[in-house]
Amino acid sequence: MGTLAGIEKIREADGIVRIRFDSPDARVNTLTERILMAFQECLEELANEAGIRGILIESGKTANFIAGADVREIQTLSTSLEAETKARLGQKIFSRLAAMPVPVAAVIHGTCLGGGTELILACTYRIASDDPSTRIGLPEVRLGIIPGFGGTQRLPRLVGLRSALDLILTGRELRASAALRIGLVDEVVPVELLPAAARRWIADHPVRRPAGQRPLERLFQRIGPLRSLVISLAERKLREKLKGGDYPAPFRALRILQETYGGDLDQGLRVEARALGELALTPTAKNLMALFDLNSRQRRNPGLPEGGKARPVRRAAVVGAGIMGAGIALAIAGKGAQVRMKDVAVEPLARGLREAHRILASQVRRKRRTRRDLRDRMARIQPTLSYSGFRCIDFVVEAVFEDLELKRRILREIESNVSPECLIATNTSSLPIGEIGRVADHPGRFLGVHFFNPVHRMPLVEIVATDRTDPWAVATAAEMVKEIRKVPIVVRDRPGFLVNRLLMAYLGEALHLLEEGAELTRVDRALERFGMPMGPFRLLDQVGMDVASRVARTLNEAYGRGESAVELLEKLAAAKRFGVKNGKGFYLYQDGKPVPDPEIDQLVRPQGRIRPAGEEICLRTLLPMVNEAARCLEEEVVGRPGDVDLGMILGTGFPPFRGGLLRYADGIGIGKIVSLLEVMASRYGERMAPAELLLEMTRRKKNFFS
Ligand code: NAD
Repeated sequence: MGTLAGIEKIREADGIVRIRFDSPDARVNTLTERILMAFQECLEELANEAGIRGILIESGKTANFIAGADVREIQTLSTSLEAETKARLGQKIFSRLAAMPVPVAAVIHGTCLGGGTELILACTYRIASDDPSTRIGLPEVRLGIIPGFGGTQRLPRLVGLRSALDLILTGRELRASAALRIGLVDEVVPVELLPAAARRWIADHPVRRPAGQRPLERLFQRIGPLRSLVISLAERKLREKLKGGDYPAPFRALRILQETYGGDLDQGLRVEARALGELALTPTAKNLMALFDLNSRQRRNPGLPEGGKARPVRRAAVVGAGIMGAGIALAIAGKGAQVRMKDVAVEPLARGLREAHRILASQVRRKRRTRRDLRDRMARIQPTLSYSGFRCIDFVVEAVFEDLELKRRILREIESNVSPECLIATNTSSLPIGEIGRVADHPGRFLGVHFFNPVHRMPLVEIVATDRTDPWAVATAAEMVKEIRKVPIVVRDRPGFLVNRLLMAYLGEALHLLEEGAELTRVDRALERFGMPMGPFRLLDQVGMDVASRVARTLNEAYGRGESAVELLEKLAAAKRFGVKNGKGFYLYQDGKPVPDPEIDQLVRPQGRIRPAGEEICLRTLLPMVNEAARCLEEEVVGRPGDVDLGMILGTGFPPFRGGLLRYADGIGIGKIVSLLEVMASRYGERMAPAELLLEMTRRKKNFFS
């Protein structure tokens, strides 16, 4: 037995050697250069040792096999050549692994991603545990790069071109059962049986014919035009999904597979390494890696107040089984907890259950979930019309209609039916949490948890603490949000919290542009080209004019910067132009598709026609968001610029390749932003005047992320 910087080599009496990855002082294993070198050394030693029958590769961590290459090391690379050289090193070591004279089995339990997956691809056999924590994938494109340790070469050889494209282009993670279906792993067993199963594979040492050698695959490998057909179909899907965003990596991966599939492995590896070298230094990769850092930091430290310790949540309840309540109940059931779902009548309860079932069924159809999983989750949601059983609930989320008096009444009802330790949260999107909580007997355990719609797709939750919320309550809510695989950001109880407040600054300015005479399709197109998932008017139609005008009114009452925007939204709502939900908003909707409506001018009454350039439209609408974000930082609505960037990306779909709103602002330069805002303030009104924080940053020559 011996240890080499995070790699342990254990030789068993029966001639099996276990190589155990266990990065010192780290929660997860990553393939740092040091670990890779130690692994190489270990392989060299073993290749020369006599009496070895086989090798098992395993992890010393509880729910992690190998999480991937070390992102920090990639971030420090300063030239393409350096990045390419690093890829070549990893490739060389994994090729050494693939050429070992004895069979090697990977014993996979927990996350196995990126470089971890590339490592198992170079093993003879892959045996995975059936635990839900076991997930296998190549998420590199999500970091703006491609797999660089042989993934683009060995994966298609093993699972075939189409499965490989699916994994490499989307970066999605597979559970063990799905990995087994495509031939990425050889066997799936309960975790306790893993070592025995892996030994059996080594002892039997069967010859496997991978999916990549089936007759159809042979055709893809040999016949270029056939391969091109598969690649161009994948490319079309990709273009639809990425909608013109600046994501070069997946397209580069497509080109690599087009060029190398079926060819010589060494040549393919060289092409892969060169591409990685070029991609690793692009602005998109830098931004996506910064975002990855933010996400990981947020999981470790979501900005909690001092001194709070999370309490366990075993049983939860949701009051109000509408769109949000059903979504929240489903999310909680997904973590394995029982959740009661209460409403006032059978019909809304049944509707809530149907909604939950509809979401799961669509996931089953898309093979994202099994039928059994659907049944288990639905069984954990217990519909009810009364508060019976609420005494043993640890966490209640209220999601009834947006009405202050109703929410106060429900809060009092909940308090009189739960134990004194139970955490109580409201999912209000615009009412002040402190105002609702004023009637609470125990205001310390009351806070806001603002989920976004649709809950099953939106990863962000704003945790809204009032001045009276206890630190343990904030910590418990944040922990709960993490457990349901969402990202918490802690915000202060100010109108609009963080995300809606910033979004309204942007939407409000788009409405001003419309009144000045810009065409709405022109505005939408400019912002979609910038990378927003949809332009501001399509977004307003999605939200609905009733909801949007109410939120805008609340924000205008609080901050007084958007009276004319509120009036315009109210005018549309009064004209029953609610948006997508009744087929008529800023656009008309025909078969769900937006078409411009010439009548909109009569409502808006533009001052004339203007044709601002795309860049001007973007600056005009995005800089007010930057300005509002600066005010939020001044008022300590959030503590860190990173909270703003995560909030906007995860809560509104601000384009990830731009790294986030404030990283985008840094890119323009704060001094320049201040000048632009000053000019715009003199033209369009004081609402555009730069925030004090921006002026201060300009004086001190600071950036948000310097
Ligand atoms: P909804 O109208 O779909 O559902 C509200 C549900 O509450 C209904 O099923 C209703 O029967 C139930 N209800 C009413 N009174 C009740 C009572 N006394 N006891 C139990 N149930 C009762 O509304 P929604 O869109 O799910 O919104 C719920 C909350 O979430 C609101 O506060 C809203 O502001 C907030 N929110 C909504 C969105 C969104 O986009 N829909 C996003 C974030 C937050």
